[in-house]
Amino acid sequence: MTRPDNILDRPIEYLKGVGPMRGDMLKKELSIFTVGDMLHAYPFRYVDKTKFHRVRDLNEDSGEVQLRGILRRVNVMGEGRKKRLVGRFRDDTGVLELVWFKGVHYLEKQLIVGGEYVVYGRVSAFNSKVNIAHPEMELVTPENTQLAETFAPVYSSTEKLNTKGLDSKNRRKLLRPVVDQLTLADLPENLPQYLVEKFRFPTRIEALRGIHFPKDARQLEKAKNRLKFEELFFLQLRLLQLKNRRKGAIRGHVFAKIGDYFNDFFSQKLPFELTGAQKRVVKEIRRDLGSGVQMNRLLQGDVGSGKTIVGLMNMLIALDNGFQACLMAPTEILARQHFQSISEYVEGLDIEVDFLSGSVKGKKRRELLERLEAGEIHILIGTHALIEDPVVFHNLGLAIIDEQHRFGVKQRARLWKKGKPYPPHVLVMTATPIPRTLAMTLYGDLDVSVIDELPPGRKQVKTVHKTENHRIQVFEFMRAEIKKGRQVYVVYPLIEESEKLDLKNLEEGYEAISRDFPQPEYQISIVHGRMKPADKEFEMQRFIKQQTQIMVATTVIEVGVNVPNASVMVIENTERFGLSQLHQLRGRVGRGAEQSFCILMSSFKLSADSKERIQTMCRTNDGFEIAEADLRLRGPGNIEGTQQSGIMSLRLADLAKDNQILVTAREVAMRILENDPQLEKEVHQSLKAYLAKYMKGIKGWSRIS
Ligand code: ADP
Ligand code: MG
Repeated sequence: MTRPDNILDRPIEYLKGVGPMRGDMLKKELSIFTVGDMLHAYPFRYVDKTKFHRVRDLNEDSGEVQLRGILRRVNVMGEGRKKRLVGRFRDDTGVLELVWFKGVHYLEKQLIVGGEYVVYGRVSAFNSKVNIAHPEMELVTPENTQLAETFAPVYSSTEKLNTKGLDSKNRRKLLRPVVDQLTLADLPENLPQYLVEKFRFPTRIEALRGIHFPKDARQLEKAKNRLKFEELFFLQLRLLQLKNRRKGAIRGHVFAKIGDYFNDFFSQKLPFELTGAQKRVVKEIRRDLGSGVQMNRLLQGDVGSGKTIVGLMNMLIALDNGFQACLMAPTEILARQHFQSISEYVEGLDIEVDFLSGSVKGKKRRELLERLEAGEIHILIGTHALIEDPVVFHNLGLAIIDEQHRFGVKQRARLWKKGKPYPPHVLVMTATPIPRTLAMTLYGDLDVSVIDELPPGRKQVKTVHKTENHRIQVFEFMRAEIKKGRQVYVVYPLIEESEKLDLKNLEEGYEAISRDFPQPEYQISIVHGRMKPADKEFEMQRFIKQQTQIMVATTVIEVGVNVPNASVMVIENTERFGLSQLHQLRGRVGRGAEQSFCILMSSFKLSADSKERIQTMCRTNDGFEIAEADLRLRGPGNIEGTQQSGIMSLRLADLAKDNQILVTAREVAMRILENDPQLEKEVHQSLKAYLAKYMKGIKGWSRIS
């Protein structure tokens, strides 16, 4: 265990060379509170110190460069906010200007005119002259060891830190003695010896030395590899431990029998044969529901793969066992769609289905709540309103969450509390597939079912990319499809920061379409987020009933809307949508028997990322493939729902790239827990101690607070 005088637990200001002022800054700017925090704030990249650029060759595209030469002069120029320090730097090939806008006087004193420096920074162009702003400066001295390094780590920093002597160079100086003096007492090995040997990992201390002061690329790779494994492994160990613990401790309602509701539905109502994947998943869930342990299961499936019916069949099992069920959706429109389709599915089966959202008010709401508490409502479908305090179930047995946006931990906990005496079984359905690595971390403590097969006879949606100069052609195409009796969506982005502008886009678009598709021949619906729920609903209904042929909308129609007769999806300003959003939108068509089309409209000039998104959409209809591309393009931190989850604060591992390490880490963690569920064996004491000290904060998805 760690000693009380463990150097890593020492407050950062006591580290030699830091002091109170810099200590405060490190705490504020980088959340580095202890020496240990500093040790675990890894470099985010490395500079190859063996290569030098020449001033003569620099241009505005040079990027980050390293130069070696003499600092000829420094001058303070300008006044007030324009004050800056300008240096003239020369190597054998030319002269370059260096500029600092912050820490002017400090640097003026620090920098040695006439000294030989290694200069590192990003080249920028100003008035057709290149310069470097805020370069890192390192004086070349005989005893300067830094220059002997091949790789110099670069740490994340801020301008404030850079100008107060906490740039990468100084961070390295501060860390050097810490890293050199580390002992096993300060930093005990946290992995069992047999794993270190099996994977030929460096020791933990070697790994930390390797990541901060690598001698060569190979040592750096080995260090990174171990630290990434460690990070993912402990997270998996914790998540799997939570999962096992929950299964051991949290009892659930036993849905022992399959009764009339399920059987009647299956024999009389099911309008199609289930796909193989649907059957398999229904079985998996049924096994859970009968086991006496509370179910926490994630149901993944592509858009249109038929998750709703699977959800419904499980609700019927709950009903057969005398329990109520509910389905919670993130938006009013989606919730209403579910309400409608489920009501239709169970018509004539003597099942009471009802709907609750913020828009259900007054007497209607009071009566609904009374009937719910009395057990007269069997299935309640709705929005967040379901988890509010006044909503009391008679006996909630199963809760289904259709989540496009993740509901927060608190909201989920409230849902759990609606069940008596046990929490309800919980089935989470994702709106689009999520990459495997994300599922393993975000939902790592849940069981997972995957519907990996689409209902038969689905035609792939044909996707094309068009720009504004094809507008007439696109309108022509819409007219031809409408003539065949089909319906068309035209979707505009709506992103909160620019809501006003977006609304203007939508309204202008609506007018342009109205001009080209005049009444009475054409009828147009319009739906956007600023409308009252009742108005939205009215417009949606007109479209569903085929009273209108064109639906002009913002992304409110993104999830769940089901109008099988709609065969064309035109997406405007495609470059402003994310990949999973585009895939979701495209999923609104191709639901009927007709060939469907998705037209991605964009401006002519596109960023590399937008281009790749559009190409991905045109290339594939496979939601799992699209999810992987999305993760690669955006990085894990930007995928929906990941920010709220503490799980994602990984220091080193990257879920888009470290797939293999993650899979291995999870397998190893699983095997350990199979053999030693409580981590009681001597060889696993280091794991237990580490989990207790560092992983307590990870609560997992299915946390019950
Ligand atoms: P999602 O998984 O996107 O929620 P839905 O549950 O909305 O998909 O199903 C999409 C459509 O496919 C619905 O119209 C549904 O009735 C239909 N569907 C579901 N399963 C099958 C099946 N096995 N055979 C034919 N159609 C099906
Ligand atoms: Mg759905």
